[in-house]
Amino acid sequence: MSRKQAFQFLDLPRTMPQRIPVELRTSGDWGELYGKFGKEDAQFQAGRCLDCGNPYCSWKCPVHNAIPQWLQLVQENRIHEAATLCHSTNPLPEVCGRVCPQDRLCEGSCTLEEFGAVTIGAVEKYIVDTALATGWRPDMSAVEATGKRVAVIGAGPAGLSCADKLAHAGIQAVVYDRYEQIGGLLQFGIPSFKLDKSVISRRRNVLEGMGVQFRLGVEIGRDVSIDDLLAEYDAVFVGTGAYRYTDGGLLGQDLKGVLPALPFLVQNSRIVSGSDAHGRPIAGWEDQIALPDLEGKRVVVLGGGDTGMDCVRSAIRLGAAKVTCAYRRDEANMPGSAREVANAREEGVRFLFNRQPLSIEAGADDEVIGVMVVETTLSDPDAQGRRNAVPIEGSESLLEADVVIIAFGFSPTAPAWLTEQGVEAGNNGRIVAGGSGRLPFQTAHPRLFAGGDAVRGADLVVTAVAEGRDAAGSIVQLLSA
Ligand code: FAD
Ligand code: SF4
Repeated sequence: MSRKQAFQFLDLPRTMPQRIPVELRTSGDWGELYGKFGKEDAQFQAGRCLDCGNPYCSWKCPVHNAIPQWLQLVQENRIHEAATLCHSTNPLPEVCGRVCPQDRLCEGSCTLEEFGAVTIGAVEKYIVDTALATGWRPDMSAVEATGKRVAVIGAGPAGLSCADKLAHAGIQAVVYDRYEQIGGLLQFGIPSFKLDKSVISRRRNVLEGMGVQFRLGVEIGRDVSIDDLLAEYDAVFVGTGAYRYTDGGLLGQDLKGVLPALPFLVQNSRIVSGSDAHGRPIAGWEDQIALPDLEGKRVVVLGGGDTGMDCVRSAIRLGAAKVTCAYRRDEANMPGSAREVANAREEGVRFLFNRQPLSIEAGADDEVIGVMVVETTLSDPDAQGRRNAVPIEGSESLLEADVVIIAFGFSPTAPAWLTEQGVEAGNNGRIVAGGSGRLPFQTAHPRLFAGGDAVRGADLVVTAVAEGRDAAGSIVQLLSA
């Protein structure tokens, strides 16, 4: 029975699930920050939906979830049906419910804005966690095996989403990843306080139950060639992500005590999740760093995106005495999610806006002593509406630090083994897929498809999920012709 009352949004405020108290977070608790709704809370929060008739939330959601419909099913406690509906558009709904920047996507366009948006992400997480815990699994009973086989390179959200949709179409998906576990940046990038790693192993069980196979610790181009994959499979999907650092070219960036963001997060994830702390070295990508002891240290993180936020909040949990984020523009122009910035502030992170790093300074023993920064002001918007940071002469100062973490962002690199197959790469390293005369996400090689960060550049989990899903649609079309 529905628990909805007329104008429930007026009587019941928007509430999020409880969060881990700040004292625990700052003393090294790596658990997921947000807890879970109970049945009543989920029903009441879902019942706040007006069913406004213009579901902007669904349009703004990159996978176009049927949000009002599954909110209604939650009110009626029809959780297994809600889970089926969630999965019809999104193969990783419990992940997106946790990590999407909802304030910029579905919740940011909720009609109830001034009364507090419906907590769409938290309800999505509730639906899928509850359904999986009570035995719901994707219904594969009507799937007929086609005898076709597709290799998926990369077990990140793009690859997993593609594999899921292929399995639903009766195509055997075999997913290869150079890492020892699935998830890509979900596993080795996004910290556990945003996404508990048990969520990924549970999803692996679900996918394996659907018949998806994984070949982990296998790097294509090194352990297995693309020619072998093309010979063995009917088509190949490439979801290799974006791992080339944006090089700030800062003097002193190679000093001891300066860490690139991703290796710092990857190594930390391995240690926190109890995975092999040393992992397997990856050719051409130096991800094996010795993690310095941050206890009592002053840490400066350069960069204001999601990666920067994950670094500052990880440093807090690793016992750093003082953590500062320096960003060259102002707060309004920061790329990181506003919710993550608020959480970081609450955990004690200090933000210095309008500070551009000039160099990293060393003491007598070549150890980092700080970052030389200059204050900035923002230019008028350019033709693309972007406001650039303009240094203010004479405003230089030293930001003292024992450890500096550089988080300037990432770009993809189209691997040579792919371009040698005739696949085009943009000069920004992105794989070119789709376009005139091709199926969506099909590259210049008719049996090679690509999607996610490798194609669009570093972006979001939900956009990678959308592209993997839609690329699978194109592969099904090719193989059914
Ligand atoms: P990836 O997740 O990068 O997966 C690519 C996979 O391909 C990897 O597992 C890699 O090992 C594998 N691979 C690469 N080359 C080969 C090869 N030759 N052979 C075999 N395997 C290979 N997005 C959000 O929406 N919310 C967030 O809160 C958020 N936080 C982030 C925090 C950090 C620190 C970072 C770096 C990113 C964050 N993002 C976030 C972005 C998001 O994680 C990515 O956009 C998303 O993971 C891209 O998915 P993908 O499948 O394209 O690539
Ligand atoms: Fe919102 Fe992301 Fe879920 Fe879409 S997938 S409804 S954007 S949380």
